[in-house]
Amino acid sequence: MLDWSEPSPPARQALPFVAQSVAAADQTGLGAIDRSGGRVSVDDKRMINCRADVNQLLPLKYKWAWEKYLAGCNNHWMPTEVSMQADIALWKSRDGLTEDERRAIKRNLGFFAASESLVANNIVLAIYRHLTNPECRQYLLRQSFEEAVHTHTFQYIVESLGLDEGELFNMYREVPSITDKAAWALKHTQHLDDPDFRTGTPQADQAFLRDLVAFYVIFEGMWFYTGFAQILSLGRRNKMVGIAEQYQYILRDESIHLNFGIDVINQIKIENPHLWTKAFQDEVRAMVREAAELEAAYGRDTMPRGFLGLNAALCESYMHFIANRRCAQLGLQRVFDETENPFPWMSEAMDLKKEKNFFETRVIEYQNGGALSWE
Ligand code: MN
Ligand code: FE
Repeated sequence: MLDWSEPSPPARQALPFVAQSVAAADQTGLGAIDRSGGRVSVDDKRMINCRADVNQLLPLKYKWAWEKYLAGCNNHWMPTEVSMQADIALWKSRDGLTEDERRAIKRNLGFFAASESLVANNIVLAIYRHLTNPECRQYLLRQSFEEAVHTHTFQYIVESLGLDEGELFNMYREVPSITDKAAWALKHTQHLDDPDFRTGTPQADQAFLRDLVAFYVIFEGMWFYTGFAQILSLGRRNKMVGIAEQYQYILRDESIHLNFGIDVINQIKIENPHLWTKAFQDEVRAMVREAAELEAAYGRDTMPRGFLGLNAALCESYMHFIANRRCAQLGLQRVFDETENPFPWMSEAMDLKKEKNFFETRVIEYQNGGALSWE
C-alpha cells in the first residue's frame, strides 16, 4: 500500500512497464477488477493520481462535491418550459430593437451556442478521465447533462426566433473575437485529450490544473458572466425576456459549475502543495489577465457603440471586478486595480438563495415516471 501522507508524488516512473500500465488503467476505473483488493476507506481517496478503486462512491470523502451534485439535480429545468412569444414578437418587430442591440444579442447567442459544447467536450474528454474521485465524477456526469441542456437552449432559441442556424453555430469559427476565446481554451482540452497524456508528474498535474482554470474559472467563471450580464441587462429593460429567463437558469447552473471547479482546484492544491509554486501562481494570474483582455476585445467588437445600460467599457470593468474575485477564490493576489461592480444587480441574480424566490414562476413540476410513454 502506498503511503499517501508522503508529500512528494509517487515515483511511478520507477515501476516496471506492466505495473505502470495497470496503475494507469486503475485510475480510470476501467482496469481489471481487483478481486483481492481491500475496501476503499475515506483516507485512500484523492482528487488526482488516486489508486483506490474509483468505482466505489461510498464512503464519501468530499461532501462538497456530493452536495453540488444534489444541488444540480434540484435545479433541473428545460429550455422548452420558457415561453418565447414576447421574444418572437420583439425580434420580428421592425423597431423594437436597435441594430446595435441585435448585433450584441446575436453574437452573445453565437458565443454561448458553441461554448456550451466546448465546455461539455472538455468535461468528457479531458477532465473526467484524470479526476480520480467518484463523488467528483458523479458531479461531472450531472454537469455534462446540464451542458447538454444549455446547448439545447440555443437550439430552441434559434428555432423559436427563426435565426440563421449556420451563422450562429459558426460564429466561434467566423467571428475572430469569439474564435480567439474558443481557441485559447481549446488548446488545454487538446493537450489533455492526447492519448499519451498521463497525470502523475508535476508538469502533467500542472497541465491538468491549467485546464481546470481555463474552463471552470475563466470560460464558465469569467466569460460566461459578462455574457449573462449582457442579456440580463436587456431583460431588465423588458427586452428578450424569454432568453433572459433562460439565461437566469443557465447562470444558476453555471454558478455551481464555477464553485465546483474552484473547490476542485483548491482541494488539489491542499493534497499537492508542490504543484502550487510561486511560478505557477503567477502563471494562473497571467491566464486570468489574458482572458480578461480577450473578453474586452470581444466586448468592443460586440458593442462598438453600446446602448442603454450596456457598453464595452462597462463590460470591461465588470470583467476586472470578476477577475479579481476569481483570484481571491483561488487564494491569489488580484490582477487588476480594485474595481467597483458596475452591475451590482448581477450579484443578486448570482445569489442562489435569492434566486429561489426568483424561480418560483416555474410552471412545470417534474414527476417521476408519470410522463413516460416509450411504447
Ligand atoms: Mn453551461
Ligand atoms: Fe457550465
